[in-house]
Amino acid sequence: MFDLSGRVAVVTGAGRGIGQGIAAALAAAGADVLGVQRGAMDETEARVEDAGRRFLGLRADMADRATAPRIVATALEVFGRIDILVNNAGIIRRAEAVDMAEADWDDVLEVNLSAAFLLSRTAARHWIGAGLGGKVINIASMLSFQGGIRVAGYTASKSGLLGLTRLLANEWAARGINVNAIAPGYIRTDNTRALREDAARNAEILARIPAGRWGEPGDLGGAAVFLASAAADYVHGAVLPVDGGWLAR
Ligand code: NAP
Repeated sequence: MFDLSGRVAVVTGAGRGIGQGIAAALAAAGADVLGVQRGAMDETEARVEDAGRRFLGLRADMADRATAPRIVATALEVFGRIDILVNNAGIIRRAEAVDMAEADWDDVLEVNLSAAFLLSRTAARHWIGAGLGGKVINIASMLSFQGGIRVAGYTASKSGLLGLTRLLANEWAARGINVNAIAPGYIRTDNTRALREDAARNAEILARIPAGRWGEPGDLGGAAVFLASAAADYVHGAVLPVDGGWLAR
């Protein structure tokens, strides 16, 4: 039920952090992976190939609107199919809302929300045109549920991404396309380095996590394999928190 043999996954932001953890887990479950990010993805390539699967790294900027069609065209050309799309690439800019630069707001909305919409739409057009189903997994956040602080663009983008997940699920469920989200809690990656380096903030966060530790990128792998697999064929528009209990608190 959880076997992804013969499937092809596109994972944006696959070179490090959560995207790398998810790419490695999908490969371990049997999928070949097309990874996308601006930088090199050597470590992810090694992890996918160690699992016996094929990896192709496409260096591209998700803020460029020509990227989505390029990703889908590359996946079809190189692997001949796409089964799974993980919209994971994301950025965060921290400032008080009154001080937040318009460019920071725009950059975050573009990468975290617009790029996820455009890539999902491009993949869905392919699936619908070919009479195929597919799995879309959006990487949401605790800030899809909560307001947060000093991250106005990020909260808007992640709250928007959860709404978009539900809308796309409504429109595409009958086409055999599952659109769902994973909401990671506080995970040890570059994205959250500033929080861990602030001793007071780090202690506050840890004190609120029932599991008593930061999450690791590998903690997201099982949820991604589930939502990418036949086990989730009747799961549409859901969000699965993987947060050490944060939301339950
Ligand atoms: P990370 O370690 O900073 O990784 C971000 C990834 O996104 C990198 O692979 C980066 O690659 C890629 N990326 C950023 N901008 C891009 C662009 N313009 N074009 C292409 N790729 C781009 O952060 P992470 O924590 O793993 O975050 C992954 C996702 O999880 C994000 O959507 C984030 O919001 C979400 N998330 C994280 C946490 C957490 O606690 N860490 C919690 C909730 C949600 P390049 O820089 O090389 O392009």
